[in-house]
Amino acid sequence: MERPERLIVDGRRLDGRRPDELRPLQIKAGVLKRADGSAYVELGKNKVLVAVYGPKEMHPRHLQQSDVAVLRCRYNMAPFSVEERKRPGPDRRSIEISKVVREALEPVLFLHLYPRAAIDVFIEILQADAGTRTTGITAAAVALADAGIPMRDLVAGISVGKADGTVLLDLMKEEDQWGEADMPIAVMPRRKLVTLLQMDGNFTPDEFRQALDLAFKGIERVYEAQKRALREKYVPASEEER
Ligand code: UDP
Repeated sequence: MERPERLIVDGRRLDGRRPDELRPLQIKAGVLKRADGSAYVELGKNKVLVAVYGPKEMHPRHLQQSDVAVLRCRYNMAPFSVEERKRPGPDRRSIEISKVVREALEPVLFLHLYPRAAIDVFIEILQADAGTRTTGITAAAVALADAGIPMRDLVAGISVGKADGTVLLDLMKEEDQWGEADMPIAVMPRRKLVTLLQMDGNFTPDEFRQALDLAFKGIERVYEAQKRALREKYVPASEEER
């Protein structure tokens, strides 16, 4: 696809959103029978499935840590998830994303409760349209909670950026590809602690602050949807009405 002449026309983006709008977001907890915890998230055209196993005995044993559990994350893009078929298996990008996702999630877990154990998080990108690492984090946090693993907080992710000089919430593929900046961010929403912040492109200090504000607004929405998904699974609708 060629770059459209403009990414913002009359204050609207290519998909009709305003700069501060999220794409439609749906989260479902507990979608896989054989995982200890799981979640499925759609954010616009992104489709992400996460399975969590553990805490369980760590194998191979030489990777065990005598005082804490080890969190292992694998971010994987399905070959059919992107326009140009992705070669199956890990590549530099997915290895890097697996690492930053793990670091974004670790602060909410009480890993010292499970010495020598492993907690495995499998993030499968079924369809990608920019923002998959942050959508993966959003889904992984719900899946960890669904597994019954004690957590200080959830972690919610979203990306912000800039296209045609306008600061935007939740970039879609065209804005990510042709815009001037892309900044994925993950936050522990209750204490507003940032656990992931990356950036490509350029922001002035003012734009950066504006982008950060917008990200926190988006995070609130994501957090609400995460809590709703967990409530929907664990509190029957009739009970919630009482
Ligand atoms: N993408 C792609 N092929 C790849 C990697 C990425 O088409 O091998 C697309 C995909 O839609 C992805 C987007 O480019 O969501 C942005 O990728 P980026 O590396 O910025 O990560 P993301 O925004 O998904 O976290």
